[in-house]
Amino acid sequence: MLDAMRTRVVGLTGGIGSGKTTVAGFLADLGATIVDADRIVHELQAPGQPMLEDLAAEFGREILDASGALDRKALGAIVFADPDARLRLGRIVHPKVGIEMLRQVTAAREARVPLAVADIPLLYEGRREGRDTAGALGVEGVILSWVPVEVQIARTMERDDCTREAAVARIRAQIPIDEKRDMAEWVIDNSGNVADTERQVRQLYEKLVEAEPGD
Ligand code: ATP
Repeated sequence: MLDAMRTRVVGLTGGIGSGKTTVAGFLADLGATIVDADRIVHELQAPGQPMLEDLAAEFGREILDASGALDRKALGAIVFADPDARLRLGRIVHPKVGIEMLRQVTAAREARVPLAVADIPLLYEGRREGRDTAGALGVEGVILSWVPVEVQIARTMERDDCTREAAVARIRAQIPIDEKRDMAEWVIDNSGNVADTERQVRQLYEKLVEAEPGD
């Protein structure tokens, strides 16, 4: 009886252009709470938020644009070439993102939502941070939105109107999607049409909310 009201908590990840956003949308339609790491990062870094001041204090006011908002390109240029700067950025950002994600998962548990989904784009690439966050949230396993790499390239080129070289370069900066496939507990094959993906997502949702943990 108690178990029937228990919120299952899973992670969701993908690779560039693999359909993670599409899968998250279908899960939300089915009633899952999506705890979106990227959105939380953006909200915590909005003008007026203490994190933006912390970032400016650490990296200089040149990371702010004329309106006082975060200039992601400027910050990216600083941390891109400097591993130590990346570490310092992570120390400012990750703990607060983790706390907010935990707050949202806890709210989903209290509301007895059947499924809470921690949407973490670079769950595997983040290594320690990604795993620490997933562990703190009580994530039972990870859903991967997967497509073959050729489809990943084609959809990224089309969506971002970029060259094949540009798409391949961005994809190469991530763990290959087929390696992620070996690490994930559940895989949605998003290489077909969106109706096919929706059907798979519904089946997985039903399996997750109806089954005992470990299934
Ligand atoms: P990113 O992490 O790069 O933002 P994503 O993994 O969230 O990408 P989506 O934004 O869902 O991926 O999908 C990438 C692109 O492919 C989008 O333009 C989307 O409309 C399209 N797309 C997603 N799924 C399908 C599908 N099954 N068939 C055709 N196009 C699709």
